[in-house]
Amino acid sequence: MAAIDTTVVADWISRFGAAVTEKRDWLTELDSAIGDADHGANMARGMSAVGEKLGAGTPATVDELLKSVGMTLVSSVGGASGPLYGTFFLRMGMTAGAVSELDGPGLAAALRAGLDGIVARGKAEAGDKTMFDAMAPAVDALDEALAAGSSVPDAVGAAADAAARGRDATLPLVARKGRASYLGERSAGHLDPGAASTAILFETLAAAVADSA
Ligand code: ADP
Ligand code: MG
Repeated sequence: MAAIDTTVVADWISRFGAAVTEKRDWLTELDSAIGDADHGANMARGMSAVGEKLGAGTPATVDELLKSVGMTLVSSVGGASGPLYGTFFLRMGMTAGAVSELDGPGLAAALRAGLDGIVARGKAEAGDKTMFDAMAPAVDALDEALAAGSSVPDAVGAAADAAARGRDATLPLVARKGRASYLGERSAGHLDPGAASTAILFETLAAAVADSA
């Protein structure tokens, strides 16, 4: 089974940073419709701080790398998304452990722990119109694909597709968590910005894994 080593994880983080920076205006536009127009800026600022931190050298183990990403996001992003994505990466790192590579089930377990961390922190449930609505289907799809015998690149590709569908499915939802919930019914008819950045998170993971295979 293909393994995802620290270099691939670092490549994922770097691609995620580049993609949220490239899509900063779009993420901000989504947040201007149902929030306070800072999601693109928050993600770009946080991931740029992560890039500077990792520019000094990639840590040897997956947990050190992911914990460093998580701590940097928590400390550099003021919005809700900083602590939520920060917790995601911290929990992912804690579950990955001091290893230099992850196999498919190891990656799936780490991502599941990251998702559980977001839930522990933000209490989001399915259909609340948050990043959970893109992430939970992605992690489920990864588990299902691996259980059905898919290769790791194919399984991560299935997770990315599920995240994109989850993002799109937030469009008609009425927000029940975060700033968008203050709008009540008026939050319907807009994509959730955090679900949009989470779809990018899984798209860049799939690309990093596919290119390393
Ligand atoms: P803020 O809302 O503080 O301005 P951002 O704009 O950066 O922070 O992030 C907003 C995104 O955070 C939302 O689109 C949503 O996906 C996510 N979010 C907000 N609250 C929660 C929560 N309690 N649980 C999960 N995700 C949440
Ligand atoms: Mg915002």
